[in-house]
Amino acid sequence: MRRPSFSRSIVAFKCAIISTARTFIAWYRRPQWLPAELAGSKIAFAEKTFSMHHPVRLLARIDRAYDNGLVIVLLELKVRRSVRVYQSDVIELSAQRAVLRSSTGREVAPYGFVLLLHPITRRKSVHKVTLLSAGEVAKLAIRRFQLIDGLVAARGPRNSAVCRTCEYARECADTFTASPAG
Ligand code: SF4
Repeated sequence: MRRPSFSRSIVAFKCAIISTARTFIAWYRRPQWLPAELAGSKIAFAEKTFSMHHPVRLLARIDRAYDNGLVIVLLELKVRRSVRVYQSDVIELSAQRAVLRSSTGREVAPYGFVLLLHPITRRKSVHKVTLLSAGEVAKLAIRRFQLIDGLVAARGPRNSAVCRTCEYARECADTFTASPAG
């Protein structure tokens, strides 16, 4: 068996150093808010709409989708005063995941990120969330269609305390906040 020549070893060593240096530079240059999981990832899709037709018809507009070399990771930007992630954010990202997987066949991570941007201070914070399965998204979508068609009645929150900090409190104060479902 031939042993690798000294010059080949030097070249391999230099390549390893260059690769390590590039990784470090990418990490160092990444925006402060970008989670470590996305350092070195490429943007796969930005502000693009996808659709799926089975088991339910859904459209989803993707804010940002990163390709980390293994899977696609979703990120949604929200301009918001409060540093809070809502269940609606999780549902939105979960629907994006279901639609993106269905329409592209790509594997999408079962987690995603919500990037919160304060409208005045422009301060950013990023929050990792666990996403719902495609089956759970389909169930929610079917219930939504049934609610819109008036086939089922809307339920109030299980715990009315959540209404106090909900961003939709003003819109539905007359409907649920006064007499939440028990
Ligand atoms: S304010 Fe409306 S949307 Fe918000 S939690 Fe209460 S019932 Fe739900």
